[in-house]
Amino acid sequence: MSSVAVIGAGIGGLSTAIRAAAEGRSVTLFEAAPEVGGKLRQLHLGNFRFDLGPSLFTWPDLLLETLAVAGAHAAPFDHTRLDRSCHYYWEDGTRLIGWTDQQRLKAEIEEALGISADPVLHHLDLSRKGFEATRELFLEQSLHETSSWTPTRTARHLGKALRAWQSLPLTHRLNRWNARTGHPHLQQLFNRFATYNGSDPYRAPAMLHVIPHLEFGMGTFAPVGGMHAIVDALHQTALAVGVDIRLNAPADRIEVEENRVRGVRLRDGHRHEADVVVSGVDVTPTYRMLLPDQPAPKRILSAEQSTSGVIFYWGIRHDAPDLHLHNILWAEDYREEFRCLFEEKRIADDPTVYINIGSKTSPADAPDGAGNWFVMVNAPAGWDATGIDPLRTRVEQKILRITGIDVAAHRECEHILTPSDIAYRTGSHLGALYGPASNKATSAFLRQRNRDRRIRGLYFAGGSVHPGGGIPLCLLSGRITHELMKRHDPQH
Ligand SMILES: Cc1cc2nc3c(=O)[nH]c(=O)nc-3n(C[C@H](O)[C@H](O)[C@H](O)COP(=O)(O)OP(=O)(O)OC[C@H]3O[C@@H](n4cnc5c(N)ncnc54)[C@H](O)[C@@H]3O)c2cc1C
Repeated sequence: MSSVAVIGAGIGGLSTAIRAAAEGRSVTLFEAAPEVGGKLRQLHLGNFRFDLGPSLFTWPDLLLETLAVAGAHAAPFDHTRLDRSCHYYWEDGTRLIGWTDQQRLKAEIEEALGISADPVLHHLDLSRKGFEATRELFLEQSLHETSSWTPTRTARHLGKALRAWQSLPLTHRLNRWNARTGHPHLQQLFNRFATYNGSDPYRAPAMLHVIPHLEFGMGTFAPVGGMHAIVDALHQTALAVGVDIRLNAPADRIEVEENRVRGVRLRDGHRHEADVVVSGVDVTPTYRMLLPDQPAPKRILSAEQSTSGVIFYWGIRHDAPDLHLHNILWAEDYREEFRCLFEEKRIADDPTVYINIGSKTSPADAPDGAGNWFVMVNAPAGWDATGIDPLRTRVEQKILRITGIDVAAHRECEHILTPSDIAYRTGSHLGALYGPASNKATSAFLRQRNRDRRIRGLYFAGGSVHPGGGIPLCLLSGRITHELMKRHDPQH
């Protein structure tokens, strides 16, 4: 039986492990931390439960499909579809609910902004067309295998994609061109989707315009029990299909001889032989720490990283009736925010504030009348966290100004996560949330491939490799990696 060693129990590692074990391979998963989940771990503070990382759940079919490969062993997973994606708040008093029903969204925009919202529906239709044209070519298979690039498939998909995006190269220009009413709030709203993979909306290619379709077209969802239910389902399914999960087991080296993997050496000196090794750890530490003797792909390791974040986890004794699960309090000057993040490598003086209150859909996560607030501002990857106290004050003042809620007065407990904490806890390079940024048209091609062409038996999954960061794409990386494994290292 072919043996597989997976390093790192994040979404990419867990999903690859499930698929390989369900195929009948012997799979051992080594995780450095005392628990699985990577960026999706949870935190308990008093009577409050927080999801430490992701809060937005889209494209649930990918999770269901991953669990389903385990057949009768699949753990149950329940989720609900939300009627709105987000509540948006501007400093000028404008408020907008991002209804996922498009006619309702149209009516909301027309009432809140006093303009015709027909261009917005057209814009969302372009997003859908772009997504449908590109998902197979750019998201659901390797970009680096010649078999992926049959001439007919390439011509068909690229042609459709270019038509969908009107050949405009940059996502913010596309948003400006399409929101012909020119309403700056709508442009800002659509520009934010480039941040869903930590990119700069003012430099990101128009391809990122497929993202709004995930939220407004396919829908926004909430796992029953909170985001950690995703990890629980993957974890239980992995155990049920026989994945041998070793916690507190940091890998020290991927052992390679004569351009073939031989297994994994752990930090405690223990060696584990394997025919196939999958790194579910960020690609930079994979090369620098696990493969220090192998030539590293310099262009990939020097790529600009996606944004990180500073997250305040606050237990707030206030029911915040106007706030929803997802809320955005916009920066007044969005372009300036990204100039600060990517050029000056600092947090803007007036950052966009994202508030997620998980207890709005999972009431058990906070006491009655209270909420588990996850309050995040974008930060540059590698930000050294100087000035956290003034940042907290600015965030509190913005929340008070816009929502009228004095969080400082209602706060019962607090925990803070900075880019270096994220790097330390998950191995993510500079604490970037989504691996390398997608700020160039070539970014998709410059991400780490899922199969190493030089070292036989070496594979990569997770948010820093193809097709990208975020839960859906990490699940896709598990699928692509396993497909490549079946083709290049079949079961014996
Ligand atoms: C604050 C925050 C907010 C986010 N918001 C969203 C969101 O709303 N929606 C969304 O879809 N995505 C979001 N993301 C991104 C998403 O969390 C990630 O893309 C995804 O979880 C990454 O999964 P991964 O497979 O790359 O593994 P990771 O989660 O990076 O896990 C890697 C694992 O490898 C382990 N490891 C590291 N080194 C070693 C070693 N030497 N040996 C053994 N194990 C090791 C780590 O302990 C960790 O468990 C967010 C991320 C963060 C941090």
